[in-house]
Amino acid sequence: MNTSLNTEYPKFPRMSLEITQACPDCDDEATFYRAASTTLHLGEKTKWRCTSCDYTFVKINEIDSLPA
Ligand SMILES: [Zn+2]
Repeated sequence: MNTSLNTEYPKFPRMSLEITQACPDCDDEATFYRAASTTLHLGEKTKWRCTSCDYTFVKINEIDSLPA
């Protein structure tokens, strides 16, 4: 069993670099890419940016902070 190739997602194997979800600025579904991530004591904080309008939001442990 070769595990040496599995270096791309060392801590968060299900975390992707792009997600699709509703953007409040675009008022539509949009693709967001992961702009930054920070590890906190309560988990991982990730910042996502809309590729269409540059709207950003923050998720902590997959819980988003979208206002709507
Ligand atoms: Zn947008």
